[in-house]
Amino acid sequence: AEKILNIQDLRTYFYGDDGVVKAVDGVDISIHKGETVGIVGESGCGKSVTSLSVMRLLKNTPGKIVGGSIEFEGKNLVDLSEKEMREIRGNQIAMIFQEPMTSLNPVYKIGKQLGEAIELHLKYDKQQAKEHAIEMLKLVGIPRAEEIVNEFPHQLSGGMRQRVMIAMAMSCNPKLLIADEPTTALDVTIQAQILDIMRNLREERGTSIMMITHDLGVVAEMCDRVVVMYAGRVVEETDVYSLFENPKHPYTKGLIGSVPVLGANADRLASIPGNVPTPKNMPKGCKFAPRCSAAMKVCWEREPELSKIEEKHSCRCFLYEKSEAMEV
Ligand code: SF4
Ligand code: MG
Repeated sequence: AEKILNIQDLRTYFYGDDGVVKAVDGVDISIHKGETVGIVGESGCGKSVTSLSVMRLLKNTPGKIVGGSIEFEGKNLVDLSEKEMREIRGNQIAMIFQEPMTSLNPVYKIGKQLGEAIELHLKYDKQQAKEHAIEMLKLVGIPRAEEIVNEFPHQLSGGMRQRVMIAMAMSCNPKLLIADEPTTALDVTIQAQILDIMRNLREERGTSIMMITHDLGVVAEMCDRVVVMYAGRVVEETDVYSLFENPKHPYTKGLIGSVPVLGANADRLASIPGNVPTPKNMPKGCKFAPRCSAAMKVCWEREPELSKIEEKHSCRCFLYEKSEAMEV
């Protein structure tokens, strides 16, 4: 299938008082039409920064894209003006976040904000927009949609608000949906319902999804392919079956070791001691070396490349490099 998104050598750095944080440092990720790709890793691995870079939503942060390209439908998003980007955002690429309250306006009724998004992007009049809004709310399984349009966000439960967010995101029929921890704040039953809704919409519309999560249960439920990130880099990439059946990178193995059930919290990894390195203690060689039980001398001296180890399976680790590296 054709690629809808092609990120190459993306570098997004944050400039703070303590120096430069290379939050995303040379990342390649591609998503094909209709594909759901999981971006996995602990907090601080660069997954959210990757998605904010795609959306070009770094303006209010000290972050800056300093290199690489983000090709979407043949356009390099890195080069677009803010005005051009506004036409893509919410229209061709939509995003949903962990906490819908940050994206819903608390002073507007549900119908008004959903309707406005629809009016703006689909060029509907008020009545058509309202009808479409109700239709969208029904599509995401919201009961009493005709009444809900007259309610405020705070009157709804967390699960209902996330459904409204999905309705808003999907109302303009985006080609790419970026979901950043969309179910993390919800209890397990509601999580399963939300994932179900997302799966149905994806199947009906052929939407491509970038699914950012630390939850391997979500990955198992939703993803076709998975990119594992660590310290701003891709450390492993493979299809979802090999991820669970045949993980290669010691970090991925650690993640898998933390029970892959829906709702499991990989932010607390019993199986991987230590933390994601900070800029101050960033190792010179493999960024995972301080936590890796398989670390060798070479791992402290040089950083491994992301290399293809099987058809459609890449890994960044000296254990799988068939070069002279092992002789060092
Ligand atoms: Fe561990 Fe070395 Fe592989 Fe890094 S390169 S993950 S330290 S074995
Ligand atoms: Mg995040």
